[in-house]
Amino acid sequence: MLKHIKPRSILPADAKFYPLRLIDEGFHLSVETLNRHYSPVPTAKNSFKGVWAKCVGFENELVKVEVTIPDEKPRYLFIHVDKEEMQVYCDCGMPGAQLCKHAYYGLRNLMFYQERYSFKDFYWPGYAIEKSGNNKFLDIDARNSNISIKPKKEYGNLFRPGVAFEKAEQLIIEEQSSDKYPAIPKGNDLVIGYCIAYNYRSMDSFHQPLLIPCLGITNKEGNEILQFKAFITDEMAPAKVNYTSRQIMLNSISQEMYNIVNSLIPLTDEQLLLKALLEKKLLELWHKAFKAGIANEAFIHTYFSGRFNSLNKKPIKALMRECKLDVQTAVISFLLIDKGDHYSLQAVIKAGNREITFTGNKIPFFIED
Ligand SMILES: [Zn+2]
Repeated sequence: MLKHIKPRSILPADAKFYPLRLIDEGFHLSVETLNRHYSPVPTAKNSFKGVWAKCVGFENELVKVEVTIPDEKPRYLFIHVDKEEMQVYCDCGMPGAQLCKHAYYGLRNLMFYQERYSFKDFYWPGYAIEKSGNNKFLDIDARNSNISIKPKKEYGNLFRPGVAFEKAEQLIIEEQSSDKYPAIPKGNDLVIGYCIAYNYRSMDSFHQPLLIPCLGITNKEGNEILQFKAFITDEMAPAKVNYTSRQIMLNSISQEMYNIVNSLIPLTDEQLLLKALLEKKLLELWHKAFKAGIANEAFIHTYFSGRFNSLNKKPIKALMRECKLDVQTAVISFLLIDKGDHYSLQAVIKAGNREITFTGNKIPFFIED
């Protein structure tokens, strides 16, 4: 059944929309849902050959999409996304109040032919166009086939009911055993240390921060690494030192991190779709490293790697900085500021009693002290 929805001012007054249910609180449309509304479901391998859906604009909560199907007249879809439902209008009028071929094929293409796709990026309730034809709060870029709708820089993040703040997972670290790296009284010994290899998000060669073991030789007293020999990027390589059980665990976590970061370089279109998922996995591995007791290791450094492939070379001592790792729960609070035509929230973040400032470059995932 088609229905009227409110933001129809740019369409004919009698324009009716076809509703489709979204799932999982994440604004996901599934192929299963689409297939329930369309018949016959195309099954041939080349069914979608030559089909193109191109977002061409966003106005009054509606994303306009141009759909090209071979041997058919180009059609325009208008898509509106609500919290639990999306609605589609096609300028063919959807004869018989059925989901038309343009909408079905166009949506499949917009979903990159995946089983499920999130339309969260189309959800901007209440952010209408001004009389001047501009959107005061949003930057809209429909030059590419997919549309980018983002808050204007000066607003930072903008409130959208249901998506403004995502659920945070809390990291809980159990009491650590005192399984310290055995002290080496005689010094000048080959040991394993751990590095947080990072660079900055602002860099072209940015890579996500990863834990990487390295081999080094200690000083006379055995309490610091004097010479860094090599990073260990292959946990299967023959061990040069006797690893503790914790180090075996940390090496395996490090290897997983290395593989993930390596898989994101260079970033292809295909990986771009997986990037958020892989970054989440990486953060989970950092949590795992803390639970395994990384903070109790004797030799921990940060390592500023200009490029990811520098980790295949000999570590540069000047780029190593000794560090200590600690886990504290950060507390975030907000100041509500009245700016006349909108409110802004200013975040205040504290770890312990210290206020954290966000100036300059920092190691992603970490708060530096
Ligand atoms: Zn149509």
